[in-house]
Amino acid sequence: MEARPEPPMIPVDHAARVPGGVCCVSCGYLLENLPLPGPCPECGTAIGRSLAGDLLRFSDPRYVKRLRSGARMICNAMLVGLVIVIAQAVAFVMLPLFLLPTGGGAGRGVLTVFVSIAGWLVLGAMLAFLWGWWTLSSPAPGRRPPDGERMRRATRVAAAVAGAMSTLQTLFAYALVPLVTGWRNPAPWIFWTQLGLGLIALASVMGLWIAGMLHLQRLALRIPSRKLWKMAGFRVWFCPVLMVGGGLSVLTFYLACFGVFAPIVAAVLYYTLLNRLGDELTAVVRWMEPTQGSPAPVEG
Ligand SMILES: [Zn+2]
Repeated sequence: MEARPEPPMIPVDHAARVPGGVCCVSCGYLLENLPLPGPCPECGTAIGRSLAGDLLRFSDPRYVKRLRSGARMICNAMLVGLVIVIAQAVAFVMLPLFLLPTGGGAGRGVLTVFVSIAGWLVLGAMLAFLWGWWTLSSPAPGRRPPDGERMRRATRVAAAVAGAMSTLQTLFAYALVPLVTGWRNPAPWIFWTQLGLGLIALASVMGLWIAGMLHLQRLALRIPSRKLWKMAGFRVWFCPVLMVGGGLSVLTFYLACFGVFAPIVAAVLYYTLLNRLGDELTAVVRWMEPTQGSPAPVEG
């Protein structure tokens, strides 16, 4: 667990020419055999930067900024999602108090509309969250770190599946079903389709968190941040265990309150990691800005 491999420096041969297989970090142009020092013939980036290993500070600044905007978007979407869930809970308690005096009929109509609006808002926050993950797992331009590719791709696949399933589920629940049958007496197939879509969405979000944490571990090596690497390594197993334990505890009577707190604890743990990632990527971006001097990125 202690090993943190240093990025390999690529050897340059005696004639000071770029060795085989080296591509430009900015545009991916094959730099093989070009003389040093010099610029990339395609985009003008100094060739030296492409020989400096996998550290993010030597990659394309636009790429690092894209990663940072992904991390920030995930954090913001989590906060917005939290606000919606709290508003929903408060409204569910308060609405009947206001509606009871007016009699059942109108109240049910208002409640139906309210539930539907809340459903679409949750979908919006969910899609923003998934778009954040999609951005955070953008492919590195130019040279691709081969051992990090699998988890990066798995993160993207899980985000895409979760997005498709959540959209289908929301469309189904708040657009199609009310059109076909109204809200009362839904047919069994509707229930099972809902449940199926929900379970696939849930499984892909779980998969996204696991693959995402492993992807972030790779990214942490390229910052480099030992602290972030450890944080992601802990969350990759602890949070799923917490969630599964919380899910099971809901089934029992005495431990049910643990089932409520488990997702909150997991969300806080994930949030602190992504927030820190955003800060560390900001430090890398600052380091790359030529006018700002060169303070080293935060090392935890
Ligand atoms: Zn180039």
